Amino acid sequence: MIFEKDKFKDECGVFAIYNHNHASAHTALGLHALQHRGQEAAGIVTYQDGKFYSEKGKGHVGDIFSDEKVIDKLPGKFAIGHNRYSTSGETNLRNVQPIFAEFEFGGFALSHNGNLTNAKTLRKNLIKQGCIFQSTLDTEIIIHLMATSRHHEVVDRFIDSLRQVEGAYSLVALCNESIIGVRDPHGVRPLVLGKIENESWILASETCALDIIGASYIRDIEPGEMVVLQNNTIQSIRPFQKKISKFCIFEYIYFARPDSFVDGKSVYEARKKIGSVLALESHINADLVIPVPDSGVPAAIGYSKESKIPYELGIIRNHYVGRTFIEPGDKIRHLGVKLKHNANQYLVKNKKVILVDDSIVRGTTSKKIVEMVRNAGAKEVHLRIASPPTTHSCFYGVDTPDRKELIAANNDTEKIRKEINVDSLAFISINGLYRAMGLEYTEKESFYCDACFTGNYAITLTDILGGDTSKQLSLLSESNK
Ligand code: SF4
Repeated sequence: MIFEKDKFKDECGVFAIYNHNHASAHTALGLHALQHRGQEAAGIVTYQDGKFYSEKGKGHVGDIFSDEKVIDKLPGKFAIGHNRYSTSGETNLRNVQPIFAEFEFGGFALSHNGNLTNAKTLRKNLIKQGCIFQSTLDTEIIIHLMATSRHHEVVDRFIDSLRQVEGAYSLVALCNESIIGVRDPHGVRPLVLGKIENESWILASETCALDIIGASYIRDIEPGEMVVLQNNTIQSIRPFQKKISKFCIFEYIYFARPDSFVDGKSVYEARKKIGSVLALESHINADLVIPVPDSGVPAAIGYSKESKIPYELGIIRNHYVGRTFIEPGDKIRHLGVKLKHNANQYLVKNKKVILVDDSIVRGTTSKKIVEMVRNAGAKEVHLRIASPPTTHSCFYGVDTPDRKELIAANNDTEKIRKEINVDSLAFISINGLYRAMGLEYTEKESFYCDACFTGNYAITLTDILGGDTSKQLSLLSESNK
């Protein structure tokens, strides 16, 4: 979609429900609440009386699961689901999750949010051993590693498989009447545990998926923790060597929904706090603080509160820009950003305005938005960004452009300012970002994954960069300049 090419893309959303009479309907609702994490495709697998049932499709959850007849084809009290935004493998139905395999112990369905960084090596080795892959998903590697495991019990096979993979993963699995949830040892991607009614448990990427079905938030699954829901009990296992926590800080900046709690923190409050620190770091006198909707809204509220400059909706978003314009013809292509956003001329004319956005990726959208605000008569346009410059790509489950396409990877702030044509431009500093999260930033022991701002990749990238260690080293040293 032309309007969304200039953002990091959300990754995927996962959802699982244990022991509920409306398991498939609740899973569809949960996936609907997680729609922002992936809009390419969605799928649900359920289990009842020795049989698995599966429905998958391309498009939005509402398009695939709103028909009651589709939900009726998914019986059972146990279900898992997945929203796809492709970070590995192209999108055809074979690549739509949950993926499913038959083992001698029964069926096993799996949904994955994340990205495996040693997938190439593992896939090559498995193919050498005779494994035949059905998809191009890195998630399928986990299934083949389970199939070749010498362990007997499903949980042991799953653990054995996960001990061989590297990268970021939050997984939910369905095996007969058991649900298993697990986060990678660094806990890069989120996964929360909730409860509905007496004996029904939920696992989901974000708490907004609990809210929609009236479930209560119990806690986050911890980095490296596996939970097994079976026989009406919940068992917590720590099968991996303990590693330092590296939760994705970009979840707070942009990915997660503002009404979610992620890793125990309100995303909305975190964004407001980031805006407030941004105001302290880069104050400038102006008439109005204007968010770039929707993702810049909480940070702009925080900025306005801290700076005491009035907050106004100087850019209005058209919520009805849908897939009608996914591939516009040449005649309307030039309208670009105007189809989605329009400047509120009444507010901005002859004003000095501060625009607040969450991030700059390529810079192309920011440039158009600034031009639009200037055309509406703004006297001065100052841009404030609620994240540090995005200088590196993500390899942990977020679709990002190549590094060479990231405007901040190749230009300093002054060059970007000129390119975007603003009167001033400032990003929150990495120290400021951590301060907003209530922590001190230390390069060696940073609490979050912040690799797209710092180049400090905590999980090995050798496979991702084609085993070219020199390329990896130069990528890392460039980040330290
Ligand atoms: Fe998140 Fe950036 Fe780390 Fe990717 S590289 S996990 S987007 S902080």
